[in-house]
Amino acid sequence: MRLIASLVSFLAVGMSLIGSPALAQSQPGSEPRYWRGNLHTHTYWSDGNDYPEMVAEWYAKNGYNFLAISDHNVMQQGTVYKKVADLEKRARGKAFAKYLARFGPDWVQTRGTGDAMEVRLKPFDEYRTLFEVPGQFLMMPAEEITGEADNKRAIHINATNLLELIEPPKGANVVDVIKQTTDAVHAQAARFGREILVHVNHPNYKWGVTAEDLAAISSERFFEIWNGVDGDGDPGDEVYPSTDEIWDIANTLRIAGFGAPPLLGLATDDSHDYHGDVIRAMPGRAWVMVRAKFLTPEHLILAIREGDFYASSGVTLERVAFDEASGRLSLQIMPEDGERYVTRFVGTRKGANIVGTSRKNADGKIVETTLDYTTAEGPQIGEVFAEVEGVQPSYTLGGDELYVRAIVISTGIPTFPTKESQQKKAWTQPVGWRPHVK
Ligand SMILES: [Zn+2]
Ligand SMILES: [Zn+2]
Repeated sequence: MRLIASLVSFLAVGMSLIGSPALAQSQPGSEPRYWRGNLHTHTYWSDGNDYPEMVAEWYAKNGYNFLAISDHNVMQQGTVYKKVADLEKRARGKAFAKYLARFGPDWVQTRGTGDAMEVRLKPFDEYRTLFEVPGQFLMMPAEEITGEADNKRAIHINATNLLELIEPPKGANVVDVIKQTTDAVHAQAARFGREILVHVNHPNYKWGVTAEDLAAISSERFFEIWNGVDGDGDPGDEVYPSTDEIWDIANTLRIAGFGAPPLLGLATDDSHDYHGDVIRAMPGRAWVMVRAKFLTPEHLILAIREGDFYASSGVTLERVAFDEASGRLSLQIMPEDGERYVTRFVGTRKGANIVGTSRKNADGKIVETTLDYTTAEGPQIGEVFAEVEGVQPSYTLGGDELYVRAIVISTGIPTFPTKESQQKKAWTQPVGWRPHVK
């Protein structure tokens, strides 16, 4: 009887474990799936306007599977107290009461009273345990390595899943700073035997990073094609190219000029504002969908490195498939009620001009930015090869393309659009480039 009873209890335990999302994904034969995540987020640890637990909980409750909180030049470690009154100014008096009401005095640590009262910013390793659920929600340590070159160009680079702070390096120019930062990240990854993702943020913020900068370093492979902050320049303007144009120029220079693999594009929130009254940098605007079997930092980062992910500001894809043999790129869009979709297949053909000329402003003055590669004749960089309506668009390479990528554009508008005329979009990664790189 005892044997049977313990067998029954063993089976019951076994059953419930197998039923858990963490173990379900590790069953032999289970398929990879898409995990939704944001890799660029701010809190009170730097210039965000809420406590890290509040921010983490927002993402955990709003359909995300992973989150990297990437404050400026700081790891969320050690004992750090901040004056409540100072923090409240940033949130217009809205943060502390909500924080205390949500987590209670047993969790919230304060010292002092009145105007001098200080609150402890909880370290990452402590608060992550409140939200992480194996197979459902994962948090990764991160840092926005925030610096500028000697020529005053702003360069912000995210490192995800790092262990130790990386100080922003000094450098004569943007390329120098990107190179030193990526080298430092890769050295740390090697030292700890750990996957660390490094990506260049919002290239058009203060027009800091050009396509030529992004093309120059083959060890740097990731950048933000879309950043949720209003005013970070993603759409470009009359003089400055959009991040979509920058991506195509950088990819063409890399593949045709250097025989290097193309850049891959991420979308992130870069959220700072969490109280609903300021919408410049709110959460929920842009994310990545990463296809992996396991929800672990290593599996997510390796999948991103393989290009098995897409960027989104509102469009969901069920499937992105590229068949190397036939050269066919096909997508399956998950439609939303009342929305229609157009997919642009964009790329560059062999023989496109890769010698740029300076851009000029309305006064005819040269502007130091990404060069202009348009020519009167011949293939152009970032050509639209095809525009396909519907939820199952596909494009088959004809053989003279250096690469092709897809931009899916919905007729739907995001709940909180950031940029002028913004529609919900998804961006897939460039494919078909492997035969053209070393
Ligand atoms: Zn930044
Ligand atoms: Zn940021």
